[in-house]
Amino acid sequence: MCMNGSIHLFRVRGIALRVHLTFPLILVWAALQFGWLNGRGWAGAAYGVIVTLLLFVIVVLHELGHSMAAMRYGVEVKQIVLLPIGGVAQLARMPEVPRQELVIAIAGPAVNFLLAGLLLAVGSLWGQDLGIRRLMFALGGLGRPTLRAVFTYVFAANLFLAAFNLLPAFPMDGGRVLRALLPSWMGHGRATTIAVSVGQSMAWLLGLWGFLGGGIFLILVAIFIYVGAAQEGRMVRWRIALSGLTVAQAYSRQVQALPPQATLRDAVSITLNTLQSDFPICEGGRLLGLLTHARLVEALDRHGADTAVVLVMRREVEPVSPDEELERVQERLAREKLDALPVASGGRFVGLITSRDLNEVFRLLASHPDLVARREEPRQSGPS
Ligand SMILES: [Zn+2]
Repeated sequence: MCMNGSIHLFRVRGIALRVHLTFPLILVWAALQFGWLNGRGWAGAAYGVIVTLLLFVIVVLHELGHSMAAMRYGVEVKQIVLLPIGGVAQLARMPEVPRQELVIAIAGPAVNFLLAGLLLAVGSLWGQDLGIRRLMFALGGLGRPTLRAVFTYVFAANLFLAAFNLLPAFPMDGGRVLRALLPSWMGHGRATTIAVSVGQSMAWLLGLWGFLGGGIFLILVAIFIYVGAAQEGRMVRWRIALSGLTVAQAYSRQVQALPPQATLRDAVSITLNTLQSDFPICEGGRLLGLLTHARLVEALDRHGADTAVVLVMRREVEPVSPDEELERVQERLAREKLDALPVASGGRFVGLITSRDLNEVFRLLASHPDLVARREEPRQSGPS
């Protein structure tokens, strides 16, 4: 199945392995690089494709290392996706317990060191030269394409992969190790901020190295790291801003509910005159459904302005209670692709919690978390 630009290959221990549609680009690049650009034609090209496929087998084993460690802590692994620049194991969440993040981060490179150890044993029995010069030679795709060359390449690739991933370039493994090792008095937020800054500085350096002759892949990896670090930093800031807050502290009370027989025209006029763009449909204080902004626009095109709202509203929207946590609300809004959720107390509609409300909380409280009283949060902990 093709989904989100990637193709499902197979499952390992329940984890879906997928390859991104751009993945074949790396094989084309390998064929060119090891073949014709190296003056070795078809034989070189075939060798390039084989070692690159083996490289990605190693990448998959590396990602499985992370995945198995994550599953030990009860973290769901959604899938492993292979991109031309490497692999990503997508975890449902990253544990905030530093020791768990440390173990999960190290598990990937540990697999490579383990494999390298095994290959070193085999290589010494086989009388294979695995000196540093020979390894650089193999990674560069130089020399004749023989079985020994493949062996040396795989050994070198394991060492290279482990070492590269251990660079302190958050969100790569080394960056996660760095965050987990920062002193606990800093807290998760401060530790993340530091890891993000170090990671983005590393990304600049790698990018610069790429521009100065390191090649296009280094530049792509640098961009990947920079954007990834920014995203994770933002996610953590959101979590900190929302943590321990409930719907009651943020929802909008001054919301106009519409009766079922109101028309789309009524909803449009309120939208134009107020900040409200989603409408609870109520009868005698009882919630019947939600007319979302997207539904309103779509229904205007399809059915015209005089249609009754009850005919086009969403009925399946489950209201939230005032003591629900804001973090859960944010997750639901994202999952159900909504901008607002109705708030109900004792079966009666009392207001709306909107993404605008959440944005305000974030803007005001991300840098001033002490402005409001927060519920004490139970820290998550796993098996030790
Ligand atoms: Zn890794």
